[in-house]
This record gives sequence, structure tokens and C-alpha cells, in this order.
Amino acid sequence: MPIYEYVCKQCGREFEELVFNAEEPVVCPKCGSTETEKLMSACATKVDGGGPNLDALHGSSCGSGGG
Ligand SMILES: [Zn+2]
Repeated sequence: MPIYEYVCKQCGREFEELVFNAEEPVVCPKCGSTETEKLMSACATKVDGGGPNLDALHGSSCGSGGG
């Protein structure tokens, strides 16, 4: 199912939403605002087979997009 991450511009709440209709506005579950923005969910860290890659954890710049 198409689950996307959204962030509310009003209260800053981040949440996941099932999106069936891209035309319908996504409503914030906290404040009810429709001023929401879809986030990029390309947060997949690639780990080579052979054990946990601690280096990847340290250098994870995922989700910290200042904008
Ligand atoms: Zn909100």
C-alpha cells in the first residue's frame, strides 16, 4: 500500500498517511490542518553483507534536511 510520510506546516507534526487519492489533501491528525507537505522516504541505508556497518550509523545524514 502507498504509505507516505508527511509533515504538518502548522504544528510540525510528522505522520504517515495512506494515500489513495493524490488529489485529496492530507489532513494533519494532530491539528487538522491541510497545510501538509510530503516527505521523501528515501531513507534506506545500504549495508554490505558481512555484518553491521557502524560507520553507516555515524554518517547517517538521513532526515536532517534543513531546507
Ligand atoms: Zn498539524
